[in-house]
Amino acid sequence: MLKKLKYKIIPENWQHANSYLIQAEKNYLIDPSIDFDSGIAQDLDSIYATHFHFDHISQVDIWRKNTEAKFIMPENDQELLNDEIANCSTMFGQPRSFSSPDSFYNDEQIIEVEKDLFFKFYLLPGHSPGCSAILISYLHANEMKPFVLISGDVLFANSIGRTDLKGGDPLQMQESLKRLITIMKDLPMDLPVLPGHGPIFTIKDALTNNPYVRYFL
Ligand SMILES: [Zn+2]
Repeated sequence: MLKKLKYKIIPENWQHANSYLIQAEKNYLIDPSIDFDSGIAQDLDSIYATHFHFDHISQVDIWRKNTEAKFIMPENDQELLNDEIANCSTMFGQPRSFSSPDSFYNDEQIIEVEKDLFFKFYLLPGHSPGCSAILISYLHANEMKPFVLISGDVLFANSIGRTDLKGGDPLQMQESLKRLITIMKDLPMDLPVLPGHGPIFTIKDALTNNPYVRYFL
């Protein structure tokens, strides 16, 4: 049984998206755009990206150099990872390529990151080819309990991710949204949703207030 499970929000600024630190026995960083010097965690086990855009992964190589953490990202973003236009680093005025991730995840893959703690990945393309949501759950008394849903740049509090960037596709985004709605309806209404940008919200908020979600209900 997990002794502790917490999440910490590192809110976005003009150069980086929201980053999230998941703290259990070990620490996991989601969307490594926060400076290593921030000191939020020295002992990372692994780093996950919801997708390959610069404002989500800009600091990943520095984190990897300074910690033993493995970096895992969606397989479908691999092809464009070092395209400086597609990865948005040019847009942010810092054209960049990145070193190869340690591994990739794919749709519906489940990783038990430590005993009783599970990350499940849902591939929801449209904002980028590999753009994903991550459902974090834990096992308690033989039951899987959802903890948080990380929605990346697929779903925000009252909006969705843009689809006009290289690798984006509005029709794919519509299909992804429909699928995400089905996924969310099976989750507790008060489950926190942690987006790539803007404030956190709940599943109920998304189903009640988000105009893009409501369009498909
Ligand atoms: Zn993005």
